[in-house]
Formats: sequence, structure tokens, C-alpha cells
Amino acid sequence: MDIIYRVDPHAPLATPQIHSAEEALKKLADGNARFHSLVCKVQGAAASSDKHPEVIIPVTPISLGVPFVSGVAPSHNPYALILGCSDARVPLESVLDCAANEVFVVRVAGNVLGVECLGSIDYAVCNLKSSLRTVIVMGHTGCGAVSAAVDIYLTPSDFPGIAFSHALRSLVDRILLTVRGADRALKRIVGDDVSSHPNYRQLLIDTAIYMNAAVTAHDLQREVRSICEDMNVVYSVYDVAHAQITAYPFDREEAQPLAFAPAPLNAEDFHSVASTVVSRLIKD
Ligand SMILES: [Zn+2]
Repeated sequence: MDIIYRVDPHAPLATPQIHSAEEALKKLADGNARFHSLVCKVQGAAASSDKHPEVIIPVTPISLGVPFVSGVAPSHNPYALILGCSDARVPLESVLDCAANEVFVVRVAGNVLGVECLGSIDYAVCNLKSSLRTVIVMGHTGCGAVSAAVDIYLTPSDFPGIAFSHALRSLVDRILLTVRGADRALKRIVGDDVSSHPNYRQLLIDTAIYMNAAVTAHDLQREVRSICEDMNVVYSVYDVAHAQITAYPFDREEAQPLAFAPAPLNAEDFHSVASTVVSRLIKD
């Protein structure tokens, strides 16, 4: 199976003009659908000895981040800002099938909102207003930072392992509150005896991963609104095993999974997000 990146310098693809947040989110959801489709084709080819057609991906110098004319830097005009995790399995431009200059990316373990991250985000929202249409928090399944916070929550006696590293502790501390909230949601929906469930730890990690993205989006929404009143923040989670983005865990009965959900704004919104996440996780 051949995957070919093809450049035709005489018929360049137009640089996308994105006029609204809806358009930006649709473009990113479509990009992930293309990536997922490519992954499925490759997996299908690996599982079969049949001959498979080649896949041609058109690119231009601009989509690779370089100008058409040597020596002239393209202007910086991303249409989306994404706060994601540093996990090496989640290269955001790849999983969303984005070209260079489409997304302004900030990556930090656990997609937590530290001061330096916030500085980068403030810079982008203040200085890239003319092109920026949306802000996204992207968590991912199997997140090591969230798993570490869950393990500290479940076994506080292990805390000395990170207690002497201020940097590591500050990362886990930011996620611990969400883990506590995820545990409360599990107990509310499943029952107080959920802690004796054989998959309790995994349920807690999975719930906390979605909740962590939602909580960070909530915090970021307040920050971003103070700079730009009409900029909305959304969240999503990249499922590493399925190569797809969804705002809630997969539901086989759902025809079209929701790629992005708005940042929760109040206690009622959080309650609703937690209920949907937990009810889908315990369905499996
Ligand atoms: Zn992670």
C-alpha cells in the first residue's frame, strides 16, 4: 500500500479561510475523520493480502510551513488554538490532519493550565485575533499524568515518590481535584461500593481524563473571555486506541459521535458531563 504526498507547484491548493468557530471545529473534526479513515485503510491492508489502492495526499509548500517564494515568511494565521498533552502518541497536527500554520499548539503533560501555558495562550488570543476562531482543550485516553494523579489519590502512601519534585508535584496537584470530582461522580451514579468494582482504577482514570479536559476548558474559558469576549472554548478527548476524537466515551448506539463539546460553565454543566461520561463507561 502506497501513501503518496503529492505537490503540484502549478496548481497550488488555496490556503483555507475560516470565518467562524463552527467552521473551524468542522474542519478539525473532518481532519480527524480523514486520519481515522487512513488508519483503518492501513490496518485493513496489514490484515489482508489483497492489493490495495494507493492513497494520495495533496500538499503545498504552504501546508508544509514554507513559502511559495524562497525568503518570504508566510504570515502567522492559525484558525484554532489547541492545548493538548505532551504524550508522544498524540501529535495533534497529525491526528487532526492539519497543515502547518492552521493550529497554534500548546502541549504539556496532562494538558494542565500552568502559568507558562496560560502565557502562550494569552499571547495567541491577543495577537492572532484576526485569524483565530476557537480554543480547544484536547485530552487523550491512557494519559500518564492523569493515571499518576489517580494512583496518588488511591494510594496516598505512594506520594513521597513525587513529593520531592516540585515540578512533578505541581502537575499532579492540578489534576487531583478533578480525580476527586470523578470519584464523586462514579459514587453518585454507580454507588458507594464502586471502589470494590474490579475495574475501579481504570473507570476512575477514564472518567478523570474526560473530566480533566472539561475542567481545563472551563478554567480556560474564563481566562480567554477576559481577553476576547466572544471566543468560545471547547474540549475533546483523542482515543489513542481508535484514533478518533470525541467529547464523551464511545457509544455504539450513537450514529455520529460528538467531536467537541462546549466548556462547562457551571455546576449543572459539570454534573451533566460527569453523568454522560460515567454512564457510557459503565455501559461497556
Ligand atoms: Zn497525557
